[in-house]
Amino acid sequence: MSTKGTHIPERLKITFGGITPAPSQEKGQDLFPTGNWRAIRPVYRDKLPPCNNACGTNEKIQGYLDLVKRGKYLDAYALIKEDMPFPSVTGRVCYHPCEQACNRGKYDEAISIRAVERFLGDLGQNLKRDVVTAGPSNGKKVAIVGSGPAGHSAAYQLARLGYAVTILEKSPKPGGLNRGGIPLWVLPPQILDREIERLLELGITIKTNCEVGKDVTWNELKKNYDAVVLAVGLTEANSVRAEGEDKEGVIYGLPFLRDIGMGTSKVKLGPRVAVIGGGNTAIDCAREALRQGAMEVTMITVESNTDEMPAVPEDLHDMLEEGVQLVHGRAMTAVLGNGEVEALQLHPARFSGAINASPITINRNAPPDQFFVDNVIIAVGQHASLAWLPDEFKNERGTIKADRFGRLGDTNFFAAGDIVQLGTGQQLMVVNAVGDGKRVAFNVDKVLRGEALQPRNIPVDVIFDLNRMNMTYFPHFPRVQQTLLPPDSRKKTSREVIQGLSEEQTVEEAARCFSCGTCNACDNCYLVCPEPCIVRPARSNGMYKILVDYCKGCRVCIEECPTGCLEGVPELDFDTGVVRMDTAFAVSPGLHGRQSEQLRQLAEQPAKNI
Ligand SMILES: Cc1cc2nc3c(=O)[nH]c(=O)nc-3n(C[C@H](O)[C@H](O)[C@H](O)COP(=O)(O)OP(=O)(O)OC[C@H]3O[C@@H](n4cnc5c(N)ncnc54)[C@H](O)[C@@H]3O)c2cc1C
Ligand code: SF4
Ligand code: SF4
Ligand code: SF4
Repeated sequence: MSTKGTHIPERLKITFGGITPAPSQEKGQDLFPTGNWRAIRPVYRDKLPPCNNACGTNEKIQGYLDLVKRGKYLDAYALIKEDMPFPSVTGRVCYHPCEQACNRGKYDEAISIRAVERFLGDLGQNLKRDVVTAGPSNGKKVAIVGSGPAGHSAAYQLARLGYAVTILEKSPKPGGLNRGGIPLWVLPPQILDREIERLLELGITIKTNCEVGKDVTWNELKKNYDAVVLAVGLTEANSVRAEGEDKEGVIYGLPFLRDIGMGTSKVKLGPRVAVIGGGNTAIDCAREALRQGAMEVTMITVESNTDEMPAVPEDLHDMLEEGVQLVHGRAMTAVLGNGEVEALQLHPARFSGAINASPITINRNAPPDQFFVDNVIIAVGQHASLAWLPDEFKNERGTIKADRFGRLGDTNFFAAGDIVQLGTGQQLMVVNAVGDGKRVAFNVDKVLRGEALQPRNIPVDVIFDLNRMNMTYFPHFPRVQQTLLPPDSRKKTSREVIQGLSEEQTVEEAARCFSCGTCNACDNCYLVCPEPCIVRPARSNGMYKILVDYCKGCRVCIEECPTGCLEGVPELDFDTGVVRMDTAFAVSPGLHGRQSEQLRQLAEQPAKNI
């Protein structure tokens, strides 16, 4: 670069004949810090991807997909384990709100996040030793009541924090609804067993057949532990209050599935089975009924079509593929039969207001239908059993009254999972229970360390808008599909229906991720910067450095960033006082300290080779 024809202030004239070294030359950059032309400064500012935001336990999904893409499976597994104690379970059972939120869903098809999670979970299952270890003992004891997902998660995080944790569980086997609700053909028991083993490896004690309120009292909990987490779930099935509901052959969905899961079921179904309910539990019951030998299974729902049913669409699809029939817009008003069920009386019914969120109106003036069956399974939700809980901690929803930190008043009792979330608008699902258990564990830790519980109010920028990324870098690419056992064979066995992805498929699927708003060290900015003034001494997420003295603010890196993590921030927003620097080309002496001082000294220094 030549300065011929350029006016150079007297004090800056140096003895190499007016030839200015190019800015990229080592010392020339000191003389011409081209950054003084800049009006905006590029800044790496990671956003929260919508998948992470939607996951009930905020798994760092973008992070582990990126690690999987690079073949770093163990690192990816370690990352997932920060927030999720049993990825092999959620990799199978989770209703994956992350995928509903995934930005890729607006472009072609959402990333199959759950399938990648399952791959990592299965990798963890096969490790001789888990990557997670218990924290150094802090000498404090915590009891967890209930071994479902919320209790499991709280116990796991507390053990990592160094607490001596004991889980008290009233059932003969641990797992909560993961064992006594979610069917074996969704979650094989050996997978859950291995995850429970991992809890034991952390030094957690699990006492089964131990019911709080019967085998252990409230006062004993208070006396024997520094803190207690109540994660007791909703263990009692709801009734529809129909006439004749006590007849033989009437079964409730929750105990039906629980007994099968616990291996204690004695149920023998007849050939024709009706299931009352339109939600996920009803779907599990209908599909389980086929596997228990029923020939014709019909779901009877108040919802007037499948769109209104509060069910996961894939599960509904798979159920229909297996041959379950649907009858919509009907309520069971009586069970008919002489001692045992022979038929159901059905009346037209609808929700009086919002679907699934208002009372049901039954048209009893209409002539009823008779529906002939051998068994009816009632699956219309569940409620808690809290006779043992002091009244002051019960609320009008029939659940535990806890503050926003999950704490019961100013006691050292906390509550987590379905027992808190029912009726709050939060969906009842495993991942939400896990997230709740995790957050409550951290709150227990704070209270026991004497720290104040404070709401987190760090603003988060969730990147929903594809226009904030550079979509030209992402070719359309279909989602890798998981295979399913064929409907005719699967409905006769308890074999796992959905199959896992191979390693190649997992990597291919992970590589579809946009890495929304989050630097994944793709090197694009580094390569496109015309100066060049982006350096990457240590290459990893977000570790590039912009040499602001030389960045002209041309925006090329910002525009070309595929993920949208680079932002242009007006120079005046920085409080460093950098507005204009003093250089050979500056119209007037600028304000910047370092360069102007250097330049002053340079003019006074003897000539040297640069
Ligand atoms: C049939 C069914 C299928 C489901 N399928 C899915 C699914 O596929 N995916 C999904 O994401 N969600 C699913 N859910 C929802 C999910 O299972 C729950 O949201 C989740 O299990 C709640 O976890 P939790 O730990 O709060 O309670 P739970 O899992 O209910 O665990 C509570 C535990 O506390 C124990 N307990 C209760 N009282 C006491 C006491 N007094 N003393 C000692 N122990 C006690 C219980 O025995 C139980 O083990 C399903 C729910 C049902 C009913
Ligand atoms: S736990 Fe569920 S919501 Fe969270 S990442 Fe896994 S599949 Fe998605
Ligand atoms: S594309 Fe990747 S980072 Fe973006 S929402 Fe989907 S999984 Fe998350
Ligand atoms: S491409 Fe280089 S010069 Fe341009 S704004 Fe980015 S860092 Fe600055």
